[in-house]
Amino acid sequence: MKTFNVPANRQKLFLLFDMDGTLYSHEEYLQSQTDLPIKRLAMLKGKSFEQMSAEISEYRKNWSASNNGKALSLANAFTAFGITIEENIKWRNELCQPEKFLKPDLRLRSALEKLSVSHTLLLVTNNPVSVAHRTLLCLEVQDIFKNIIGLDTCGVSKPNKVIFDYLSRFYRVSADRGVSIGDRYDIDIAPALEFGMGGILVEKIDDIYALGNLF
Ligand SMILES: [Mg+2]
Repeated sequence: MKTFNVPANRQKLFLLFDMDGTLYSHEEYLQSQTDLPIKRLAMLKGKSFEQMSAEISEYRKNWSASNNGKALSLANAFTAFGITIEENIKWRNELCQPEKFLKPDLRLRSALEKLSVSHTLLLVTNNPVSVAHRTLLCLEVQDIFKNIIGLDTCGVSKPNKVIFDYLSRFYRVSADRGVSIGDRYDIDIAPALEFGMGGILVEKIDDIYALGNLF
């Protein structure tokens, strides 16, 4: 793992966990979350999956080049192809099937339970809240998180800083008491650092199991 501006005072922090690729690692499931919406979009537009994937990649690449190298989430990229965030939420609710891929993770549960004794754990995901809830149920950690902030909470997705601003105001907590924890620097960490929070880049699931050593 890599840490960025984690507060020196590590009492009563707000730990903002990303979900996919952070709380679990499952290549096939993660890939399906990207491929299935692109397949549906391709069908709507009368294009092949390969053609649609290439167009979306190109759009994201160009967006990044004209926005100082920042990343664009898939949900945000889809809006440029006529799929609103609201429509995207419906698609994800139908297409994401965590029950097919994920199992309870007792090591994860134990690590998160320890952290929750002294800190507030929140889930911040680019998936809709309902998909997040189903995913946490599959992993059997749904009761440990105080709140789930998803694509439908603010109508925007990370790396949009609005989410971090919302959290800070909702919990009446200053940015420097928050730490964003996730597997993608551009999406999970960079916007949190810009907002004044700390960040922890998770490079493998074992990093989550070892987080208790840090806090
Ligand atoms: Mg992730």
